[in-house]
Amino acid sequence: MPTAVITFDDVVRSQLENAVPILQKHGFKATFFVCDWFRDSRVHALRQGMDMADLKTLHQLGFELGNHTKDHANPASLSVEENKAQVAYIEDLFKELQVPAPKVYAYPGGPYAEVAATTVKSMGYIAARTGGNRPLDLAALNPFDMPSYLFSDDCPDRFNEALSALKEGKTVILTYHGIPDVEHPWCNVSIEHFTEQMQRLADIGCVCPTYSEFMKSL
Ligand SMILES: [Zn+2]
Repeated sequence: MPTAVITFDDVVRSQLENAVPILQKHGFKATFFVCDWFRDSRVHALRQGMDMADLKTLHQLGFELGNHTKDHANPASLSVEENKAQVAYIEDLFKELQVPAPKVYAYPGGPYAEVAATTVKSMGYIAARTGGNRPLDLAALNPFDMPSYLFSDDCPDRFNEALSALKEGKTVILTYHGIPDVEHPWCNVSIEHFTEQMQRLADIGCVCPTYSEFMKSL
């Protein structure tokens, strides 16, 4: 069965409002990577960012919450201690929310960083997601350097590439931001395109577990 792990970054409210109902329609699960932009007054004014209640709702709906660090800073530019603090902050936030501790991490900005890989591994994480726009190589999997396809309406062919990989029997991780993402046009996916993409996954019988569920299935 083709398997895709669907992930969403940066706690954009449109993910809950627009993407979640479409995921539910197909019975797809997903993992939402959380950073702390709740206290950003600009984000709040625009009603672009999710708040604590929204995160709790995602958990209650059966979706997974992962760690995308407090400030979304480039982990390669931070020390081990600073990386640890960035990750621990989100863990404390989840305790406050009374949701399960995060088990998966997504590198802020995308690229793999050795210092972050070592840090989250030592903190008990089971996997970490990068970018790279290629399928997983399950025969030589490094759980702390797992590539994903990053989608944007500016790159219309990328979803086709991911779908081709799925049809060849490969497993993929898909990364979305806002649906739509008006703040970050370079990673915007419209509701129309997201709807179509989820339908195309459903059409090939794709299974979409959370990131942690997928890791446990290996
Ligand atoms: Zn991000």
